[in-house]
Amino acid sequence: MWILVSLLFVLRYLIMAGIPFLVFYVIPGKKLQQAKIQENTPEAKKIGKEIFYSLITLFIYGSGIWFFTAWVQHGMTMHYNEISDYGAPYAILSFIMMVFLHDTYFYWTHRLIHHKSLFRYIHKVHHQFTNPTPWAAFSFHPFEAILSMGVIPIIIFCLPWHQYTLIAFISFMTLYDVYIHLGYDPRGLRIGSWQITPTDHNHHHQDARVNYGLYFSFWDQLMGTYKKYQKKRISKEIPVS
Ligand SMILES: [Zn+2]
Ligand SMILES: [Zn+2]
Repeated sequence: MWILVSLLFVLRYLIMAGIPFLVFYVIPGKKLQQAKIQENTPEAKKIGKEIFYSLITLFIYGSGIWFFTAWVQHGMTMHYNEISDYGAPYAILSFIMMVFLHDTYFYWTHRLIHHKSLFRYIHKVHHQFTNPTPWAAFSFHPFEAILSMGVIPIIIFCLPWHQYTLIAFISFMTLYDVYIHLGYDPRGLRIGSWQITPTDHNHHHQDARVNYGLYFSFWDQLMGTYKKYQKKRISKEIPVS
């Protein structure tokens, strides 16, 4: 079953990262180059590496389904069957809570793997992509892949959850992850200044001391790690030290 689930994750990744890649990189060719956050387009070899690491991550995520189904089947989680059990407003509220919980979990685990004793063994895999494309959304070291899954047990053990809400949250997470690695920053997708944008995260890939957040900049602002760049384009790739 885990192979089937992994293949579904891979299919979802191919669609969710593949469509933006086609729209922003392949179809317009060089026409959109001026709008790119960084001038250069990464080499095909680098993009291949992004895909390679993402596929490993997705197979790790797929194998996590074994634990997940065992916990649910044994009634250990706070799963409920019918939306009407808690009502539609709660389903929406629980989705929002999942996003906020994940944002906090991501910020602090991200800070953890930036610690100098862990960075070069684990998180450097993700930071080798200094000019990321949508394919980099899941390009992690296997340990980081496992760590990133840790938010799921927190959610399903602490929050009453419905399967549709969880699927909506996981889909949103995937889309947002693809969005911040887009390499472009479409203005139309910006909602507010509290949002982590592709420009914010693109700078994080180059300057590993700022912009650790995923969806929101709240934690970065609170902890003094937020840096808003005025310049939209970066002239050249800056290697991570
Ligand atoms: Zn990234
Ligand atoms: Zn990082």
